Amino acid sequence: MKVFSIFAPLDIMGMLSIKSLENMSLTTQVSLKPDYLIHPKVSGNKYRKLKYNLEKVVAENYKGILTFGGAFSNHIAATAAAGQALNIPTVGVIRGEELASKIELNPTLSYAQSCGMHLEFVTRSVYKEKTDPAYLNTYLEAFKHYYVLPEGGTNSLAIKGCEEILTHKDRDFDFICCAVGTGGTIAGLINSSLPSQKIIGFPALKGGFLNEDICKFATQSNWELWDSYHFGGYAKVDSKLITFMNHFKATYNIPLDPVYTAKMMYGIFEAIQTGRISKEAKVLAIHTGGLQGIKGMNLKLKQKKLELIN
Ligand SMILES: *Cc1c(COP(=O)(O)O)cnc(C)c1O
Repeated sequence: MKVFSIFAPLDIMGMLSIKSLENMSLTTQVSLKPDYLIHPKVSGNKYRKLKYNLEKVVAENYKGILTFGGAFSNHIAATAAAGQALNIPTVGVIRGEELASKIELNPTLSYAQSCGMHLEFVTRSVYKEKTDPAYLNTYLEAFKHYYVLPEGGTNSLAIKGCEEILTHKDRDFDFICCAVGTGGTIAGLINSSLPSQKIIGFPALKGGFLNEDICKFATQSNWELWDSYHFGGYAKVDSKLITFMNHFKATYNIPLDPVYTAKMMYGIFEAIQTGRISKEAKVLAIHTGGLQGIKGMNLKLKQKKLELIN
C-alpha cells in the first residue's frame, strides 16, 4: 500500500481523438490512451510493470532491485527513478562494456546513475546469459537479498499491472494497439480485453521469440503481431520515421518516442491507409511512454547529420 501513496499517478486524461493525417484522406478516428502521463518519471507501461513488483519488494523487505537493460532502456530509467522515489537501492546490469567509459554521453544511463542506480557493465556475450541461474548467482553473491527483475521488467506481476491499462470504458473499441518489446504489456492487454476485441502488437525489434513469450502469459488468443514496422530493429530509425514523428507532433501536439510508440503509430496509419484496419473500426492506441529516449536518439541523429526529433 505504501507504494501507492508515493506513486500517486497524475490523473489520466480521457481519450484524445486523433484525426487522420491530411494527406492520407482518412476518416478513421484513432483514440490514444495517454499512459505516458501516468507519472512524471516512471513512464507509461514501465509504471504498470513495476507497480506490483515494487509492492513485493517493499512488503518482503528486499534490500534492493537488480535488473537488466541496454543503453537506451526505458526500463532502466524507470526502475532507477522508482528506486529513488521509494528509497530502494537499484542495480542495473548494462549490455555493452564500452559504455562504462562514456556514461556522461548517454542521457539514459547518466539519468539512471543520477537517481542513485549502480551500473554494472558487461559484455554482450555475458549479457546473453542473464537468465542463467549460475550467472545470476554471481551477481546475487554481491547483491544479497536483491529482488531480480528480468530485462524489460516482464514477469507475472508486471502482467498483472498491465492488465489495469484497459478499463470498462475501453470495451467499445474493435482494435487495441500497442508497441511490443518483451511482450509483457500486450499480454496484460490481451488478458483484460473482451474476446471480441482484437489486440494488435507492433514489435519494435526484428525477429526474436515474441510469440512464445506472449503465449506464456496470455490467457486469450484474440491477438496478432504486425511485424513489419521495426524499421531495421531495436532502436533503429530512418528519416521516414523521424519525419512522421515530427509531423505527428506538429499535427496533434502529442510527442512519440522513436523506439516504440512512433513505430506503432506509423503502422496504425499505414494499416488504415491500406484498409487492413477498416474505416469504420474503432481503434485505441496505447501511448506506452518512453519519451526519455528522445535525448539519446537525437545525439545519435546529430552525429549522423540526420533530421532531429522535435
Ligand atoms: C518497454 C516499452 C514497450 C514494450 O513493452 P513490453 O512489455 O516489453 O513489450 C513499449 N513501449 C514503450 C514506450 C516501452 O518503454
